[in-house]
Amino acid sequence: MQIDTKLPKVGTTIFSVMSQLALEHKAVNLGQGFPDFEPPQALRDSITRAMAEGKNQYAPGIGIPKLREQIALKTERLYGHKVSPDTEVTVTSGATEALFAAIAAVVRAGEEVIVFDPCYDSYEPAIDLQGAKAVHIPLTLPDFGIDWQRVRDAITPKTKMILINSPHNPSGAVLSRADLDELAAIVRDTAIVVLSDEVYEHIVFDGAQHQSVLRHPELATRSVVVSSFGKTYHCTGWKVGYAIAPKALTAEFRKVHQYLTFCTFNPAQWAFAEFLEAHPEHYLELPAFYQAKRDRFRQLLAPSRLKLLDVPGGYFQLVDYSAIRDIDDINFSEYLVREGGVAVIPLTPFYETAPETRLVRLCFAKNDATMEAAAERLCKL
Ligand code: PMP
Ligand code: GLN
Repeated sequence: MQIDTKLPKVGTTIFSVMSQLALEHKAVNLGQGFPDFEPPQALRDSITRAMAEGKNQYAPGIGIPKLREQIALKTERLYGHKVSPDTEVTVTSGATEALFAAIAAVVRAGEEVIVFDPCYDSYEPAIDLQGAKAVHIPLTLPDFGIDWQRVRDAITPKTKMILINSPHNPSGAVLSRADLDELAAIVRDTAIVVLSDEVYEHIVFDGAQHQSVLRHPELATRSVVVSSFGKTYHCTGWKVGYAIAPKALTAEFRKVHQYLTFCTFNPAQWAFAEFLEAHPEHYLELPAFYQAKRDRFRQLLAPSRLKLLDVPGGYFQLVDYSAIRDIDDINFSEYLVREGGVAVIPLTPFYETAPETRLVRLCFAKNDATMEAAAERLCKL
């Protein structure tokens, strides 16, 4: 039977492709973003205990109350924004599910969603599946900022959603309060919903404050904010995240979530609830933890011919490799994994129309030994 694909542009993600190549070539894998160190021992003990104590059946669809309460508490503590755990917080199976559910709940066929390139790879397929259209606006180089005039110019009567991501993957750029004010002015008096992907909310460097949309009272009334425990607690494989949105938006969000997954892995919810309560310092210490990794990685790469871009947040380092090879980023990434023994992520797959840059992304959520092994190879290029 001939299958008429609904997603003709989609193949295997660049993350899976590069991880597979890293395995085949025994390369140091700085491609797909995941830590090569373990989650905190207390968290692992908690999840094991939850399973031993029989927390093995369906959780409540919206998440266990204790975890939603802890999320609400953290949100108020950090962003000064009070949310109701019962009507405004939903636990999801990773940020990926939350992003998909938010898009499916809000966006109709024929409508438009503004996204910023380079743009995380799961956004556009979720938009396409609604019969809607992703309108791509490139971030400005070299800082990967948003040109708000271009956003104003891109708004049409069909614009239903603007999707932002700060700290940004792959660039590490962070939005400022002034950016949020610009966004608020643009969406004021419209029915546009903001979807804010804040999975790296606790990884912001050099004393800067994460500008969550939840800190912005006006934006908070029309936004779905998505986060991921995978990033914060070094357990990307557990796939637990959450969405915060005002009551009416949450009600719509939950209609989709209910039939997308119904509920999220129960033992992990108990473990996160316990750990958030007992160890709030974990997320408070995360900026310093990752800043030390960023600085160590940059120091190790300093003798190389790679040009290091600034990293205000997240756990990725962008490097310009033009002094090493004058080839495009896909070819360079393939060359590097085969000949150089290091897997990285090219930026082109995150663009609708990629600019003429020579940039690749390296993940520094790694142990010293991994960073050192990678740097030794990269310094030989
Ligand atoms: N958004 C961004 C920007 C990400 O980098 C990631 C994962 N790395 C996700 C969403 C998905 O998060 P999760 O693994 O919790 O689904
Ligand atoms: N978000 C991770 C990254 O940016 C990868 C997640 C995935 O493999 N889908 O590398």
